Amino acid sequence: MGSFDADVIGVGFGPSNIALAIALEELHPDLNVTFIEGQDSPAWQAGMLLSGSDIQHHPVRDLVSPRNPRSRYSFINYLHEEGRLFEFLNLNLPFPLRKDYARYVTWAARQFDDQVQYGKQAESVELLPDGGGAEVRLVDGRRIRSRSVVVAPGRPPYFPPPLKGLDDNRVFHYTRYLNRVDEIAAVPGARIAVVGGSQGAAEICLDAAQRFPNSRITNVLRGFGYRQKDLSPFTAEVFFPDYIDYYFDASAESKADLDRQLRYTNYSAADMDVLTAYHAKLYEQHLDGDYQIQLVRNTDILDARCGETGVTLELCERHLGGVSSFEADFVIVATGFIDLTDEEGENFLPGLLSPIQPFVGRTPLRHARIGRDYRVLPGPGEELPPIYLNGLCETTHGLGDAGSFSLVSLRAAAVADSLSKALVP
Ligand SMILES: Cc1cc2nc3c(=O)[nH]c(=O)nc-3n(C[C@H](O)[C@H](O)[C@H](O)COP(=O)(O)OP(=O)(O)OC[C@H]3O[C@@H](n4cnc5c(N)ncnc54)[C@H](O)[C@@H]3O)c2cc1C
Repeated sequence: MGSFDADVIGVGFGPSNIALAIALEELHPDLNVTFIEGQDSPAWQAGMLLSGSDIQHHPVRDLVSPRNPRSRYSFINYLHEEGRLFEFLNLNLPFPLRKDYARYVTWAARQFDDQVQYGKQAESVELLPDGGGAEVRLVDGRRIRSRSVVVAPGRPPYFPPPLKGLDDNRVFHYTRYLNRVDEIAAVPGARIAVVGGSQGAAEICLDAAQRFPNSRITNVLRGFGYRQKDLSPFTAEVFFPDYIDYYFDASAESKADLDRQLRYTNYSAADMDVLTAYHAKLYEQHLDGDYQIQLVRNTDILDARCGETGVTLELCERHLGGVSSFEADFVIVATGFIDLTDEEGENFLPGLLSPIQPFVGRTPLRHARIGRDYRVLPGPGEELPPIYLNGLCETTHGLGDAGSFSLVSLRAAAVADSLSKALVP
C-alpha cells in the first residue's frame, strides 16, 4: 500500500456501505478497507423504529441476496442465527417489522467491526498530489490517506424554505423523532406541528397521539390529501436492475419524464395500512368529539418564527388564500430528503466532496458526471483517483437506485468490481 493507510475508505456505514463491505469480502477480499461512521454504533433509522411499523421492500432484497442468494449475510440467515426463522415464517405480516430489519442491519454491520471506526465524522475528501489517491479528513483532525474513497453518507434531510436554517432545536427532522420523545413528554399538553404528507408524517401523527395523549397535533400538508404509494407491479419494476441501465442511457428529458411517472413508487406517498389507520383515527376523533389531531391540508407555510413560548407558523391556504397562524412547542419536519442535484445544478456533490468540485465533470444540466459503476468522472483535462458515490446517484441512475434497499447489493457489487479493476497495482 506504500504511503496509504488503506486501499479503500468508505465514508458512512449505513446499508449502502455495509453491502459494499459484504461484496468486497465475498468478491475481492484482497483489498484493505476501512469505514468511517459518525454514529457510535451501527443503527438503521433508529429515530423511526416505531412500534408496529414495517419495512417497504421485500425482505429478500436485503444487503446481499439479490447478488448472492447463498451468502451468510442474508436476512434469512440472520433469522436463522437468531433462532427466530420459524417464528418469523409464521408471522402473518405482509412485511417484516422495521425493528427486526434494523436489527438485521446491525447484525450484519457487527461482523465487520474490525473494519469500522465508529464515532468518527468525516469532514472532507481532498486530492493527494500527483493524482495518487485521496485524503479523508476527520472532524477530530485526523487524516487518512487512501487509494480510493466510497462516499455513502445517505441523503441530507430536507427542510422547506421557512423552516430551513432555523437554528432552534424545537424544529427537527422526523428521522430524529424517537431521540426527542422524552423532551416532548416533558411538556404537558405539548403542541406538536407535523409538517408533510409522507408516510413518516402519518406514522408520527399516529404514534404521537398515542404516546402523548394530552398533546395537540397539527399536521400541515401542501397537498389535497395523503397519497397512496404506487404499488403496481408494473411500476415497481423501477426497482429492477434492468431499469438502471435503461434510465442511465436515457436523455435528460426522458429521465425527467420517467421520474414524474414513477415518483409515487417511493416518495410523497404512504402505504395503505398506514393511511387506513390514520384515516380511522381521524374518524374516531370525530365520533368522540375530541380533535387531538388536526389535519390542515392544501396549505403552505409562509413563515416560521421562534419565540419564547413556541414556534409560530404562518399558514396560507393554497387555493382559497386564507391566512392563519398557530404556535407549536415542537415542529417535526417530515418533508423528505435532498437529492444530489437540484434544478440550478447546485449541491451536485455531497458537502464533504467540496474540495474536489473543480475537478469533477458536469453534464449539460450541471449534474456531476457519474459512471455506470458509480465512479465520479473528471472534467476535461482533469484526473481523479477512484471516488464513488454509493446511494446518492438518483439523478444519473434513477429512482430505484437510491433511497431504497432494493438494489444495494447489486450496486455494491458494481462498486466493488470497479474498485478492484481501478486498484490493480
Ligand atoms: C424512516 C425511514 C424508513 C425507511 N424504510 C425503508 C424501507 O423499508 N425500505 C427501503 O428500501 N428503504 C427504506 N428507507 C430508505 C433507507 O433508509 C435507505 O434505503 C437506506 O438507509 C440508505 O442507506 P445508506 O447507507 O445509503 O444511507 P443511511 O442509511 O442514511 O446511512 C448513512 C450513514 O452514513 C453516516 N454518515 C453520514 N455522514 C457521515 C460523515 N460525514 N462521516 C461519517 N459517517 C457519516 C450516517 O451516520 C449513517 O449511518 C427508509 C428511510 C427512512 C427515513
